[in-house]
Amino acid sequence: MGCCDVPKEKINNDKEEISLCPVCKTEGEKVNKTTVVSLVKDEIAESITESKYWLCKNSDCEVVYYNSDTNQTFTHDQIKVPVWFKTYATPIYACYCKEVTKDAIFEAVLEKGANTLEDIQQTTGANTGNDCLKKNPRGKCCSGTVKQMLEEAKRYQTEGKRNDE
Ligand SMILES: [Zn+2]
Repeated sequence: MGCCDVPKEKINNDKEEISLCPVCKTEGEKVNKTTVVSLVKDEIAESITESKYWLCKNSDCEVVYYNSDTNQTFTHDQIKVPVWFKTYATPIYACYCKEVTKDAIFEAVLEKGANTLEDIQQTTGANTGNDCLKKNPRGKCCSGTVKQMLEEAKRYQTEGKRNDE
């Protein structure tokens, strides 16, 4: 069973809860505490004492996770994996469960003729894992990100330019 076959979470009541990153003041995305515990480096996992954490979505901000009540932050050097949308990320992962990179998606499109999400799944294995909660920095399925990168690769194929160049 792939990660996207898991039934969609019911709309949660915290949807209205808005929290700003203590460093860059950008609105964050709420993440499951299990995700934070799984992705911070082992030696600091014990400092995760709050019940609620957010992901800073600003690509230029060094903060990955934070709790705005206590101003506790975890910066990218305290996280086990590079967060794909942050400017420092190397490599850029599309799918964390199967460790498939953006470059692998581009290669699948440009060299192996992949054209759809199914092609990408078959060629690279991306979006076929089921451990998103513990491996993906958002704690969610990577299908949206994989599709975005697929579209970007197809655009590159016709127009010859990448967003990250
Ligand atoms: Zn931030």
